[in-house]
Amino acid sequence: MRFGIISDIHGNLEALTTVLEALKNENVDDIFCLGDIVGYGANPNECVDLIKENCSKVIIGNHDAAGLGMISLEYFNIYARAAAIWTQNALTDESINYLKHLDYVKYIDDAEKIMLVHSSPLFPENWNYILNTDDAKTAFFKISEEQACFIGHSHQPIIFTKDLADKVVMLSPKDITLDENYKYFINVGSVGQPRDGIRDSSYVIFDMDKQEITYKRTAYNVEAAAQKIRDANLSDVLADRLLFGR
Ligand code: ZN
Repeated sequence: MRFGIISDIHGNLEALTTVLEALKNENVDDIFCLGDIVGYGANPNECVDLIKENCSKVIIGNHDAAGLGMISLEYFNIYARAAAIWTQNALTDESINYLKHLDYVKYIDDAEKIMLVHSSPLFPENWNYILNTDDAKTAFFKISEEQACFIGHSHQPIIFTKDLADKVVMLSPKDITLDENYKYFINVGSVGQPRDGIRDSSYVIFDMDKQEITYKRTAYNVEAAAQKIRDANLSDVLADRLLFGR
């Protein structure tokens, strides 16, 4: 079985439709989404509908929770806060009902070796970031039984590994085969708002039988998505950042 794993769509319909099309062409068996379907972008409801249709396992992200009014916006920057309030007003009852029933953690496999979470398996509802090896070391305590955990949240495609001697290493996003003696955090990057200086959508394909992870980048119509953000009176800053992938 081969799975597409996507995250951090952020209401960017142009990016999501392009990535779903690319995954269809890859003939994946299923698609999983690690959350932040909404927030920042101009098409939250359309993205919720597409995720609902195409992804069998979906995790809640902090921007989904913010769109539902479930979390305080105190720690959001001014752009994120304004976008969250815009999103709260834009979400339909149907979208709200879908988002509020999403889980914080799911597993790909019945043996629960491969975990899906938005931010970190360590108190997922606290939305901690795994940005460096210290963050990863702490979070690895939480995946003692699991082999690997797919994450999003930072919008930075990156891999952390832990070997048998508990040494934690950060790797740039590269195609790897999982080694049974190692544990992994695999950040799939962002579909709708990449922040690693590359504006193309980031996601991965996971071949469960071969235990292979392949990183993908797909170009989409960034200008159209940015123009919609401007037209919706969301911040120009949110439109401009898409052009530069930051
Ligand atoms: Zn996000």
